[in-house]
Amino acid sequence: MLTSVDLRSRTLTAAELTAALPRAELDVEAAVDAVRPVVEDVGERGAAAVLDASERFDGVRPQHLRVPTEELERALAQLDPAIREALEESADRVRRVDSEHRRGEDTVQVVPGGTVTQRWVPVRRVGLYVPGGRAVLPSSVVMNVVPAQVAGVEQIVLASPPQKEFGGLPHPTILAACALLGVTEVIAAGGAQAIALLAHGAPDLGDGRGLDGVDLVTGPGNVYVAAAKRLVRGTVGIDAEAGPTEIAILADAAADPAFVAADLISQAEHDPLAASVLVTDSDQLVAAVEEQLAVQVSQAPHRERIEEALAGPQSGVVLVDDVTQGLAVVNAYGAEHLEIHTEDSPAVAARVTNAGAVFVGSYAPVSLGDYAAGSNHVLPTGGSSRYDGGLSVQTFLRGIHVVQYDREALAGARRAATVLAEAEGLPSHGRAIDIRFDQDA
Ligand code: NAD
Repeated sequence: MLTSVDLRSRTLTAAELTAALPRAELDVEAAVDAVRPVVEDVGERGAAAVLDASERFDGVRPQHLRVPTEELERALAQLDPAIREALEESADRVRRVDSEHRRGEDTVQVVPGGTVTQRWVPVRRVGLYVPGGRAVLPSSVVMNVVPAQVAGVEQIVLASPPQKEFGGLPHPTILAACALLGVTEVIAAGGAQAIALLAHGAPDLGDGRGLDGVDLVTGPGNVYVAAAKRLVRGTVGIDAEAGPTEIAILADAAADPAFVAADLISQAEHDPLAASVLVTDSDQLVAAVEEQLAVQVSQAPHRERIEEALAGPQSGVVLVDDVTQGLAVVNAYGAEHLEIHTEDSPAVAARVTNAGAVFVGSYAPVSLGDYAAGSNHVLPTGGSSRYDGGLSVQTFLRGIHVVQYDREALAGARRAATVLAEAEGLPSHGRAIDIRFDQDA
């Protein structure tokens, strides 16, 4: 079912290694061309452009772009109690982790009378995207909203695609999750049109009220959502490009093939563009995983989508000499999700340098992280884990250095600063320091 790349006994440069690894044909850069007209149209025509795009891509023209408050309340009142309890548990775990991870203010005394403080200030207004194309993901409401709230964000607006079968509103479970977490500004829009609307705002959403653009857009989505985020970056901040999901599993002969197969399938279920990659030094494991895939895929409800994802160029097996070469492969790949199923998994995991999140051992599957580990499931894809981390409370904070020096402390720094100012041909910089000591002369 999976195609394989054999890297055994091969010495590759970093570039050759990256080129040898499986990757999707439709990448974010290609999708940028597809969504650019939509993003520009929303910037120019606002709500009318969003409605046109919704009709085209979601098959429905929402009656309300801004979801009325009574719909949020109704959705929460009708929420299945078991789902409510699960969302609450998921939110509690994420809140606990984010609360403890939130950066605190930190002051360093550089010299007596001279301090630099790092303040962490929440972004004021954020736009959160929650997918609702092939599957609706209320868990993404939790993953976006909770860290923003823990950071202290003042204004949250959340967008999710309109659903034809629910009269053009986002899915009721998403509305209920918003109400449960106290989010009141919810927009019925998906894809690139939603990202553009959040970034640019609009003078009138059709109800006589405008929507203010946000400062930061976050959230997962398909390749079109990731492409739109790339396009609006600069107008607003974005979190990582969290596009079609990826799982890489680094496994040796000690791995349980049934677990490995189930985890590869679990992410393939998201999207035909989802990537499932097994990196191993064991031919026996590959054979056993293939057997398991044949059985488990045939029983999976989303069989067609899974088969398409597993057969795509973005999925496959990479055969390596040993775990050390396997680590070089997974670090070059930089998967959104990386599972380690080897002997002494914690020691192997400690050597991972590029991944959105690492899941260690046989009892930490990605599905746990998707819902209930307390970690965040909005994670960088397409190799962007080389320079971006997953969504967290830190995403919603900006560091501001506060510099406080008294006269004596400035005197101590005077020489270094004025010499460098002179060396850079910027004597007025130096003068701005010297003038404070003119009376000493
Ligand atoms: P989605 O909400 O991301 O996308 C649906 C929208 O895509 C629609 O509203 C439509 O406007 C737009 N669209 C569809 N076809 C288009 C086209 N041809 N051109 C332009 N726009 C188009 O929902 P989805 O499609 O179910 O995708 C969810 C995605 O989120 C999956 O790929 C999943 O893997 C990913 N995901 C990623 C992470 C992460 O952190 N990386 C986490 C969860 C989910």
